[in-house]
Amino acid sequence: MKRKYILETKEVTKIYDSNGLVVKAVDDVSVRVKAGEFVGLVGPSGSGKTTMLAMLATLLRESNGSLLIDGQELRIMSDKERTKFRREKIGFTFQSNNLVPFLTALENVELMLKLNKKNGRKSREKAIALLTRLGLEDRLNSLPAQLSGGQQQRVAIARSLIHDPSVVLADEPTANLDTERANQVVQIFADLIHEGQRAGIMVTHDLRMCKYVDKVIQMVDGKIARVITDRDEINLLAGTSEFDQLAKEDLSKQTEQTAVSNLFTPNLSPALAGK
Ligand code: ADP
Ligand code: MG
Repeated sequence: MKRKYILETKEVTKIYDSNGLVVKAVDDVSVRVKAGEFVGLVGPSGSGKTTMLAMLATLLRESNGSLLIDGQELRIMSDKERTKFRREKIGFTFQSNNLVPFLTALENVELMLKLNKKNGRKSREKAIALLTRLGLEDRLNSLPAQLSGGQQQRVAIARSLIHDPSVVLADEPTANLDTERANQVVQIFADLIHEGQRAGIMVTHDLRMCKYVDKVIQMVDGKIARVITDRDEINLLAGTSEFDQLAKEDLSKQTEQTAVSNLFTPNLSPALAGK
């Protein structure tokens, strides 16, 4: 039977205790993400988003509660088991993209397959196809240092998806991208999550990116403050509700018309009037 929820957390808490300074970064968080569901995780800086993602990526252990991925409880795994599990089941990109500096874009992506002992001609073709889909077909052989921040981020996204993980986690994947590229990248990201029936979570500061997600979870002070699943509400949050869209279209029509009529208006400005 296919599992309904790929990712499930129950009352997860994470307490950092560094030199007597105790911070409850994640406080009693329960979330469930289905196969093919793309979730946007939003909230102010310091609300626990990255901590949440790091626990789901098996990079950080919870203080309390339970995290399940593909039905497997993360707490009871040894470090060695967690490493193998992470390599096979989880794809992630963090703010610092952690590309290997002496490997090309293509090699960085292929690395994930090699770690899982799935290299070969087929894998190379798969990596090229994915990088091409992300608009990097002419950058396959560039080193990270030869790529712009946005290009590096796209390589990192390709690397997070190439091994067909059950769970895909991204922390601010559009931080270094211009709006147009951010839209393209998150759209492709959403498509790949939906097509592959993966569970996806994207942390974002840019609420406009929420138009591509199926559910928005808002964190405040380590807790879940709000969960939005209604399409209209998500669109409203993303500023792309029908109302806004219409308003924008009207505005651009107006400017277009103004521009067009200006073209045909003689003596438009004092500078032109003199001619
Ligand atoms: P966000 O990603 O939403 O900005 P974080 O998960 O990075 O939030 O941080 C949540 C809280 O935990 C913050 O108060 C932060 O200062 C604290 N924190 C994060 N990482 C550590 C750490 N390694 N040691 C101690 N405190 C930390
Ligand atoms: Mg963060």
